[in-house]
Amino acid sequence: MLDLSAAVSMVLAEAPVLAGESVHVSRAFRRVAASDVHAPMDVPPWDNSAMDGFAVRAKEACFQAVLPLAGESAAGHPLDGPLPEGHAAAIMTGAPVPDGADAVVMIENTRPGAGTVAIEVAPEPGANIRRRGSDIRTGDVLVRAGQRITPAIAGLLASVGLADVRVVRRPRLAVLATGDELVEPGGTLGPGQIFSSNPVALAGLVEDAGGECTVLGRAPDDLAGLVARMEEGLEHDALVTTGGVSVGAHDLVKDAFAELGIAMSFWKVRMKPGKPLAFGIAERGARRVPVFGLPGNPVSCMVNFLEFVRPWMLASMGVPERFLPVVDAIALDDIPERPGRAKLLRVTLEKGPSGWGCRSTGSQSSGVLTSMARAHGLLYRSPEDGAVSAGDAVRVQLLDPTFLDGTELDL
Ligand code: AMP
Ligand code: MG
Repeated sequence: MLDLSAAVSMVLAEAPVLAGESVHVSRAFRRVAASDVHAPMDVPPWDNSAMDGFAVRAKEACFQAVLPLAGESAAGHPLDGPLPEGHAAAIMTGAPVPDGADAVVMIENTRPGAGTVAIEVAPEPGANIRRRGSDIRTGDVLVRAGQRITPAIAGLLASVGLADVRVVRRPRLAVLATGDELVEPGGTLGPGQIFSSNPVALAGLVEDAGGECTVLGRAPDDLAGLVARMEEGLEHDALVTTGGVSVGAHDLVKDAFAELGIAMSFWKVRMKPGKPLAFGIAERGARRVPVFGLPGNPVSCMVNFLEFVRPWMLASMGVPERFLPVVDAIALDDIPERPGRAKLLRVTLEKGPSGWGCRSTGSQSSGVLTSMARAHGLLYRSPEDGAVSAGDAVRVQLLDPTFLDGTELDL
Protein backbone atom coordinates (compact mmCIF):
# COMPACT_ATOMS: atom_id res chain seq x y z
CA MET A 1 0.00 0.00 0.00
CA LEU A 2 1.23 3.45 -0.88
CA ASP A 3 1.66 6.32 1.59
CA LEU A 4 -0.55 9.36 1.13
CA SER A 5 2.33 11.72 0.32
CA ALA A 6 3.88 9.30 -2.22
CA ALA A 7 0.50 8.85 -3.88
CA VAL A 8 -0.07 12.61 -4.05
CA SER A 9 3.39 13.06 -5.62
CA MET A 10 2.53 10.54 -8.32
CA VAL A 11 -0.66 12.44 -9.10
CA LEU A 12 1.11 15.81 -9.20
CA ALA A 13 3.70 14.40 -11.62
CA GLU A 14 0.82 14.15 -14.14
CA ALA A 15 -0.37 17.76 -13.98
CA PRO A 16 1.15 19.88 -16.76
CA VAL A 17 -0.17 23.44 -16.74
CA LEU A 18 -3.13 23.93 -19.07
CA ALA A 19 -3.11 26.46 -21.90
CA GLY A 20 -4.00 30.11 -21.35
CA GLU A 21 -6.92 32.10 -22.72
CA SER A 22 -7.88 35.77 -22.69
CA VAL A 23 -10.84 36.95 -20.64
CA HIS A 24 -12.19 40.42 -19.98
CA VAL A 25 -11.06 41.75 -16.58
CA SER A 26 -14.67 41.88 -15.47
CA ARG A 27 -14.81 38.08 -15.90
CA ALA A 28 -11.40 37.37 -14.39
CA PHE A 29 -12.40 37.08 -10.73
CA ARG A 30 -11.25 33.70 -9.24
CA ARG A 31 -9.37 32.77 -12.42
CA VAL A 32 -5.63 32.06 -12.31
CA ALA A 33 -3.23 34.37 -14.15
CA ALA A 34 -1.40 32.55 -16.95
CA SER A 35 1.55 34.95 -17.00
CA ASP A 36 2.99 37.87 -15.06
CA VAL A 37 1.23 41.14 -15.86
CA HIS A 38 3.32 44.33 -15.88
CA ALA A 39 1.87 47.81 -15.50
CA PRO A 40 1.79 49.64 -18.86
CA MET A 41 1.53 53.05 -17.13
CA ASP A 42 2.09 54.96 -13.89
CA VAL A 43 -0.71 55.26 -11.34
CA PRO A 44 -1.62 57.96 -10.63
CA PRO A 45 -0.73 59.01 -14.19
CA TRP A 46 -0.04 62.60 -13.04
CA ASP A 47 0.29 64.46 -9.73
CA ASN A 48 -3.21 64.95 -8.37
CA SER A 49 -4.90 66.48 -5.39
CA ALA A 50 -5.78 64.42 -2.30
CA MET A 51 -8.21 67.13 -1.13
CA ASP A 52 -10.75 69.67 -2.26
CA GLY A 53 -8.95 73.00 -1.87
CA PHE A 54 -6.53 75.34 -3.66
CA ALA A 55 -3.39 74.56 -5.62
CA VAL A 56 -0.62 77.01 -4.74
CA ARG A 57 3.12 77.59 -4.68
CA ALA A 58 3.98 76.84 -1.04
CA LYS A 59 6.45 79.73 -0.84
CA GLU A 60 3.69 82.19 -1.92
CA ALA A 61 0.97 80.74 0.33
CA CYS A 62 2.06 82.24 3.64
CA PHE A 63 -0.26 82.72 6.60
CA GLN A 64 -2.88 85.38 5.71
CA ALA A 65 -1.70 85.66 2.05
CA VAL A 66 -4.56 86.62 -0.31
CA LEU A 67 -4.08 85.04 -3.73
CA PRO A 68 -6.12 85.83 -6.85
CA LEU A 69 -7.77 82.78 -8.44
CA ALA A 70 -6.50 81.65 -11.84
CA GLY A 71 -9.36 79.19 -12.48
CA GLU A 72 -10.20 75.66 -11.53
CA SER A 73 -8.83 72.13 -11.92
CA ALA A 74 -11.71 69.69 -11.60
CA ALA A 75 -11.75 65.89 -12.09
CA GLY A 76 -11.62 65.41 -15.87
CA HIS A 77 -11.12 69.16 -16.50
CA PRO A 78 -7.56 70.27 -15.71
CA LEU A 79 -6.58 73.94 -15.41
CA ASP A 80 -5.80 75.35 -18.84
CA GLY A 81 -2.02 75.87 -18.66
CA PRO A 82 0.36 76.31 -15.71
CA LEU A 83 -0.51 78.15 -12.49
CA PRO A 84 0.45 81.83 -13.00
CA GLU A 85 2.89 83.17 -10.39
CA GLY A 86 1.25 84.71 -7.33
CA HIS A 87 -2.04 82.86 -7.98
CA ALA A 88 -4.07 79.97 -6.60
CA ALA A 89 -6.38 77.62 -8.50
CA ALA A 90 -9.41 75.91 -7.05
CA ILE A 91 -8.82 72.14 -7.20
CA MET A 92 -10.98 69.09 -6.52
CA THR A 93 -9.96 65.68 -5.17
CA GLY A 94 -8.34 63.60 -7.92
CA ALA A 95 -7.89 66.54 -10.31
CA PRO A 96 -4.46 67.21 -11.87
CA VAL A 97 -2.19 69.56 -9.93
CA PRO A 98 -1.35 72.36 -12.41
CA ASP A 99 2.28 72.82 -13.46
CA GLY A 100 3.97 75.30 -11.15
CA ALA A 101 1.86 74.42 -8.09
CA ASP A 102 3.64 72.38 -5.40
CA ALA A 103 1.01 72.18 -2.64
CA VAL A 104 -2.72 72.00 -2.07
CA VAL A 105 -4.30 73.91 0.81
CA MET A 106 -7.44 72.12 1.99
CA ILE A 107 -10.59 74.18 1.70
CA GLU A 108 -11.09 74.16 5.49
CA ASN A 109 -7.78 76.08 5.85
CA THR A 110 -8.84 78.95 3.55
CA ARG A 111 -11.29 81.86 3.51
CA PRO A 112 -13.03 82.78 0.24
CA GLY A 113 -12.97 86.35 -1.14
CA ALA A 114 -14.21 87.97 -4.39
CA GLY A 115 -12.05 86.20 -7.01
CA THR A 116 -9.45 85.51 -4.31
CA VAL A 117 -8.64 83.04 -1.57
CA ALA A 118 -7.05 83.85 1.79
CA ILE A 119 -4.67 81.25 3.24
CA GLU A 120 -5.26 80.50 6.93
CA VAL A 121 -2.76 77.66 7.35
CA ALA A 122 0.44 77.81 5.29
CA PRO A 123 1.15 74.47 3.54
CA GLU A 124 4.44 72.53 3.47
CA PRO A 125 5.75 71.95 -0.08
CA GLY A 126 4.13 68.74 -1.39
CA ALA A 127 1.15 68.96 0.99
CA ASN A 128 -1.97 67.02 -0.16
CA ILE A 129 -0.44 65.99 -3.49
CA ARG A 130 -0.53 62.36 -4.60
CA ARG A 131 2.55 61.96 -6.78
CA ARG A 132 2.55 60.44 -10.24
CA GLY A 133 3.55 56.76 -9.95
CA SER A 134 3.31 56.77 -6.16
CA ASP A 135 1.02 53.71 -6.28
CA ILE A 136 2.22 51.88 -9.41
CA ARG A 137 5.25 52.50 -11.65
CA THR A 138 5.31 51.47 -15.29
CA GLY A 139 6.71 47.93 -15.42
CA ASP A 140 5.70 46.96 -11.86
CA VAL A 141 4.35 43.40 -11.58
CA LEU A 142 0.62 43.61 -10.85
CA VAL A 143 -0.10 39.88 -10.77
CA ARG A 144 2.15 36.83 -11.03
CA ALA A 145 1.53 33.70 -13.11
CA GLY A 146 -0.30 31.21 -10.90
CA GLN A 147 -1.92 33.87 -8.74
CA ARG A 148 -5.67 33.83 -8.27
CA ILE A 149 -7.35 37.01 -9.38
CA THR A 150 -9.16 38.64 -6.47
CA PRO A 151 -11.60 41.53 -6.87
CA ALA A 152 -8.79 43.92 -5.88
CA ILE A 153 -6.39 42.48 -8.47
CA ALA A 154 -9.07 42.64 -11.17
CA GLY A 155 -9.64 46.28 -10.20
CA LEU A 156 -5.90 46.93 -10.30
CA LEU A 157 -5.67 45.57 -13.86
CA ALA A 158 -8.62 47.75 -14.90
CA SER A 159 -6.95 50.76 -13.22
CA VAL A 160 -4.06 50.57 -15.70
CA GLY A 161 -6.45 50.28 -18.62
CA LEU A 162 -6.11 46.56 -19.32
CA ALA A 163 -9.34 45.20 -20.80
CA ASP A 164 -8.21 41.58 -21.16
CA VAL A 165 -6.07 39.31 -19.03
CA ARG A 166 -4.48 35.95 -19.84
CA VAL A 167 -5.76 33.27 -17.49
CA VAL A 168 -5.25 29.51 -17.39
CA ARG A 169 -8.04 27.53 -18.98
CA ARG A 170 -10.33 25.94 -16.38
CA PRO A 171 -9.71 22.21 -16.03
CA ARG A 172 -12.71 20.23 -17.33
CA LEU A 173 -13.53 17.20 -15.26
CA ALA A 174 -16.05 14.47 -15.96
CA VAL A 175 -17.72 12.81 -12.98
CA LEU A 176 -19.24 9.35 -13.32
CA ALA A 177 -20.98 7.50 -10.49
CA THR A 178 -21.07 3.71 -10.62
CA GLY A 179 -23.49 1.33 -8.96
CA ASP A 180 -26.72 -0.51 -9.75
CA GLU A 181 -28.21 0.75 -6.48
CA LEU A 182 -28.07 4.45 -7.45
CA VAL A 183 -31.11 6.59 -8.23
CA GLU A 184 -30.91 10.25 -9.24
CA PRO A 185 -32.28 12.71 -6.66
CA GLY A 186 -35.92 13.36 -7.50
CA GLY A 187 -36.48 9.73 -8.52
CA THR A 188 -38.21 6.95 -6.56
CA LEU A 189 -36.25 4.41 -4.57
CA GLY A 190 -36.87 0.75 -5.31
CA PRO A 191 -35.81 -2.07 -2.97
CA GLY A 192 -32.15 -1.79 -1.99
CA GLN A 193 -31.67 1.51 -3.81
CA ILE A 194 -30.16 4.77 -2.55
CA PHE A 195 -29.96 8.26 -3.97
CA SER A 196 -26.73 9.12 -5.74
CA SER A 197 -25.13 11.99 -3.84
CA ASN A 198 -21.48 11.77 -4.86
CA PRO A 199 -21.74 13.57 -8.24
CA VAL A 200 -23.55 16.47 -6.58
CA ALA A 201 -20.92 16.87 -3.87
CA LEU A 202 -18.09 16.44 -6.39
CA ALA A 203 -19.53 19.00 -8.81
CA GLY A 204 -19.40 21.55 -5.98
CA LEU A 205 -15.83 20.63 -5.09
CA VAL A 206 -14.74 20.87 -8.74
CA GLU A 207 -16.31 24.29 -9.14
CA ASP A 208 -14.89 25.50 -5.83
CA ALA A 209 -11.39 24.58 -6.99
CA GLY A 210 -11.89 26.55 -10.23
CA GLY A 211 -12.82 23.76 -12.64
CA GLU A 212 -15.76 22.88 -14.86
CA CYS A 213 -17.63 19.72 -14.05
CA THR A 214 -19.61 17.55 -16.46
CA VAL A 215 -21.69 15.00 -14.57
CA LEU A 216 -22.01 11.89 -16.72
CA GLY A 217 -24.61 10.46 -14.38
CA ARG A 218 -24.51 6.82 -13.38
CA ALA A 219 -22.93 3.73 -14.90
CA PRO A 220 -24.28 0.28 -14.09
CA ASP A 221 -22.23 -2.45 -12.42
CA ASP A 222 -21.65 -4.10 -15.77
CA LEU A 223 -18.29 -3.95 -17.49
CA ALA A 224 -19.37 -3.05 -21.04
CA GLY A 225 -21.68 -0.26 -19.81
CA LEU A 226 -19.06 1.08 -17.44
CA VAL A 227 -16.32 1.06 -20.10
CA ALA A 228 -18.54 2.92 -22.56
CA ARG A 229 -19.36 5.67 -20.05
CA MET A 230 -15.74 5.98 -18.94
CA GLU A 231 -14.61 6.32 -22.58
CA GLU A 232 -16.96 9.33 -22.84
CA GLY A 233 -15.31 10.81 -19.75
CA LEU A 234 -11.87 10.56 -21.31
CA GLU A 235 -12.73 13.44 -23.63
CA HIS A 236 -12.25 15.73 -20.64
CA ASP A 237 -9.05 16.88 -18.93
CA ALA A 238 -9.61 14.28 -16.19
CA LEU A 239 -12.16 11.61 -15.34
CA VAL A 240 -13.38 11.00 -11.81
CA THR A 241 -15.42 7.89 -11.04
CA THR A 242 -16.97 6.96 -7.71
CA GLY A 243 -17.64 3.53 -6.29
CA GLY A 244 -16.88 0.09 -7.65
CA VAL A 245 -13.19 0.36 -6.90
CA SER A 246 -12.91 -2.03 -3.95
CA VAL A 247 -12.61 -5.83 -3.90
CA GLY A 248 -16.31 -6.77 -4.08
CA ALA A 249 -17.62 -9.05 -6.83
CA HIS A 250 -19.31 -6.08 -8.55
CA ASP A 251 -16.42 -3.64 -8.19
CA LEU A 252 -15.50 -3.30 -11.85
CA VAL A 253 -13.62 -0.01 -12.10
CA LYS A 254 -10.22 -1.71 -12.04
CA ASP A 255 -11.34 -4.10 -14.78
CA ALA A 256 -12.57 -1.11 -16.76
CA PHE A 257 -9.11 0.50 -16.39
CA ALA A 258 -7.63 -2.62 -18.01
CA GLU A 259 -10.26 -2.68 -20.78
CA LEU A 260 -9.57 0.97 -21.56
CA GLY A 261 -5.81 0.42 -21.57
CA ILE A 262 -5.34 2.69 -18.56
CA ALA A 263 -2.09 1.86 -16.81
CA MET A 264 -2.92 1.89 -13.10
CA SER A 265 -0.25 3.84 -11.18
CA PHE A 266 -1.67 2.79 -7.81
CA TRP A 267 -4.81 1.33 -6.35
CA LYS A 268 -4.52 1.40 -2.57
CA VAL A 269 -3.41 4.25 -0.34
CA ARG A 270 -2.62 3.90 3.36
CA MET A 271 -5.29 6.38 4.47
CA LYS A 272 -8.67 6.63 6.16
CA PRO A 273 -11.23 7.48 4.97
CA GLY A 274 -10.34 5.89 1.69
CA LYS A 275 -7.85 3.14 0.92
CA PRO A 276 -9.23 1.95 -2.40
CA LEU A 277 -8.34 4.72 -4.83
CA ALA A 278 -7.39 3.82 -8.36
CA PHE A 279 -5.25 6.28 -10.28
CA GLY A 280 -3.97 5.90 -13.79
CA ILE A 281 -3.35 7.67 -17.06
CA ALA A 282 -5.34 7.06 -20.22
CA GLU A 283 -3.29 7.88 -23.31
CA ARG A 284 -5.48 9.16 -26.10
CA GLY A 285 -3.36 10.42 -28.99
CA ALA A 286 -1.17 13.19 -27.64
CA ARG A 287 -3.37 13.59 -24.57
CA ARG A 288 -2.66 12.02 -21.19
CA VAL A 289 -5.91 11.93 -19.23
CA PRO A 290 -5.70 11.24 -15.49
CA VAL A 291 -8.40 8.91 -14.21
CA PHE A 292 -9.28 8.94 -10.53
CA GLY A 293 -11.34 5.98 -9.31
CA LEU A 294 -12.62 7.38 -6.02
CA PRO A 295 -14.30 5.22 -3.40
CA GLY A 296 -18.10 5.13 -3.28
CA ASN A 297 -18.64 5.94 0.37
CA PRO A 298 -19.66 9.60 0.33
CA VAL A 299 -17.12 10.82 2.91
CA SER A 300 -14.24 8.80 1.42
CA CYS A 301 -15.21 10.13 -1.96
CA MET A 302 -15.09 13.78 -0.86
CA VAL A 303 -11.94 13.44 1.26
CA ASN A 304 -10.09 11.60 -1.51
CA PHE A 305 -11.15 14.29 -3.94
CA LEU A 306 -9.74 16.96 -1.62
CA GLU A 307 -6.45 15.13 -1.08
CA PHE A 308 -5.81 14.02 -4.68
CA VAL A 309 -8.04 15.57 -7.34
CA ARG A 310 -8.07 19.11 -5.96
CA PRO A 311 -4.23 19.29 -5.80
CA TRP A 312 -4.12 17.96 -9.36
CA MET A 313 -6.55 20.66 -10.47
CA LEU A 314 -4.56 23.43 -8.79
CA ALA A 315 -1.28 22.13 -10.23
CA SER A 316 -2.85 22.01 -13.69
CA MET A 317 -3.76 25.68 -13.29
CA GLY A 318 -0.19 26.53 -12.24
CA VAL A 319 -1.19 27.45 -8.69
CA PRO A 320 1.77 26.91 -6.37
CA GLU A 321 -0.35 26.24 -3.25
CA ARG A 322 -2.04 22.91 -3.98
CA PHE A 323 -3.17 21.93 -0.51
CA LEU A 324 -5.90 22.99 1.86
CA PRO A 325 -4.80 25.62 4.37
CA VAL A 326 -3.74 24.16 7.72
CA VAL A 327 -4.24 25.57 11.23
CA ASP A 328 -2.68 24.41 14.50
CA ALA A 329 -5.27 23.43 17.07
CA ILE A 330 -5.64 21.72 20.44
CA ALA A 331 -7.87 18.64 20.57
CA LEU A 332 -10.70 19.26 23.03
CA ASP A 333 -11.92 15.63 23.08
CA ASP A 334 -10.46 12.16 22.84
CA ILE A 335 -10.88 10.66 19.37
CA PRO A 336 -10.32 6.91 19.43
CA GLU A 337 -8.36 5.71 16.38
CA ARG A 338 -5.91 2.92 15.64
CA PRO A 339 -2.50 3.48 14.06
CA GLY A 340 -1.71 1.95 10.68
CA ARG A 341 -3.13 4.41 8.16
CA ALA A 342 -2.95 8.19 7.71
CA LYS A 343 -6.22 9.61 8.95
CA LEU A 344 -8.23 12.67 8.12
CA LEU A 345 -10.75 13.05 10.91
CA ARG A 346 -13.75 15.34 10.58
CA VAL A 347 -13.68 18.06 13.25
CA THR A 348 -15.33 21.33 14.14
CA LEU A 349 -13.13 24.24 15.16
CA GLU A 350 -13.78 26.72 17.93
CA LYS A 351 -11.82 29.74 19.05
CA GLY A 352 -10.35 29.38 22.53
CA PRO A 353 -8.32 31.80 24.69
CA SER A 354 -5.05 30.42 23.30
CA GLY A 355 -5.96 29.62 19.70
CA TRP A 356 -8.08 27.05 17.91
CA GLY A 357 -9.66 24.07 19.61
CA CYS A 358 -11.21 21.17 17.70
CA ARG A 359 -13.72 18.43 18.39
CA SER A 360 -14.73 15.34 16.46
CA THR A 361 -17.98 15.81 14.54
CA GLY A 362 -19.05 12.39 15.86
CA SER A 363 -19.02 9.14 13.94
CA GLN A 364 -15.97 8.95 11.70
CA SER A 365 -17.58 6.25 9.59
CA SER A 366 -16.96 6.92 5.90
CA GLY A 367 -20.64 6.67 5.02
CA VAL A 368 -21.82 9.36 7.46
CA LEU A 369 -22.20 12.44 5.28
CA THR A 370 -23.79 14.54 8.06
CA SER A 371 -20.45 14.54 9.87
CA MET A 372 -18.81 15.90 6.71
CA ALA A 373 -21.51 18.53 6.36
CA ARG A 374 -20.85 19.66 9.95
CA ALA A 375 -17.05 19.56 9.68
CA HIS A 376 -14.94 22.71 9.56
CA GLY A 377 -11.76 20.78 8.91
CA LEU A 378 -9.90 17.50 8.63
CA LEU A 379 -7.55 16.63 11.47
CA TYR A 380 -4.47 14.91 10.03
CA ARG A 381 -2.90 11.94 11.82
CA SER A 382 0.13 10.16 10.41
CA PRO A 383 0.04 6.34 10.06
CA GLU A 384 2.15 6.05 13.24
CA ASP A 385 -0.23 8.16 15.34
CA GLY A 386 -2.93 6.38 17.30
CA ALA A 387 -5.83 7.86 19.20
CA VAL A 388 -6.12 11.60 19.71
CA SER A 389 -6.23 12.61 23.40
CA ALA A 390 -7.79 15.81 24.68
CA GLY A 391 -4.99 18.38 24.97
CA ASP A 392 -2.95 17.05 22.02
CA ALA A 393 -1.53 19.65 19.64
CA VAL A 394 -2.88 18.72 16.20
CA ARG A 395 -3.00 20.11 12.67
CA VAL A 396 -6.28 20.64 10.87
CA GLN A 397 -6.85 21.18 7.16
CA LEU A 398 -9.54 23.81 6.70
CA LEU A 399 -12.55 22.86 4.63
CA ASP A 400 -14.78 25.70 3.43
CA PRO A 401 -13.51 28.62 5.55
CA THR A 402 -16.81 30.49 5.29
CA PHE A 403 -17.60 29.12 8.76
CA LEU A 404 -15.32 31.94 9.93
CA ASP A 405 -17.69 34.53 8.46
CA GLY A 406 -20.12 36.55 10.45
CA THR A 407 -17.98 37.82 13.32
CA GLU A 408 -18.76 41.45 14.05
CA LEU A 409 -15.86 43.69 15.00
CA ASP A 410 -16.00 44.85 18.59
CA LEU A 411 -16.14 48.55 17.71
P1 AMP B 1 -18.82 0.66 -3.61
O1 AMP B 1 -17.39 1.03 -3.48
O2 AMP B 1 -19.33 0.76 -5.00
O3 AMP B 1 -19.09 -0.67 -2.99
O4 AMP B 1 -19.63 1.74 -2.76
C1 AMP B 1 -19.39 1.88 -1.38
C2 AMP B 1 -20.57 2.51 -0.71
O5 AMP B 1 -20.80 3.79 -1.25
C3 AMP B 1 -21.87 1.74 -0.93
O6 AMP B 1 -22.62 1.81 0.25
C4 AMP B 1 -22.53 2.50 -2.04
O7 AMP B 1 -23.92 2.36 -2.04
C5 AMP B 1 -22.13 3.93 -1.73
N1 AMP B 1 -22.15 4.76 -2.93
C6 AMP B 1 -21.55 4.45 -4.09
N2 AMP B 1 -21.77 5.41 -5.00
C7 AMP B 1 -22.53 6.35 -4.40
C8 AMP B 1 -23.10 7.58 -4.82
N3 AMP B 1 -22.93 8.03 -6.06
N4 AMP B 1 -23.82 8.29 -3.93
C9 AMP B 1 -23.98 7.83 -2.68
N5 AMP B 1 -23.47 6.68 -2.22
C10 AMP B 1 -22.76 5.94 -3.06
MG1 MG C 1 -20.73 -0.10 -6.05
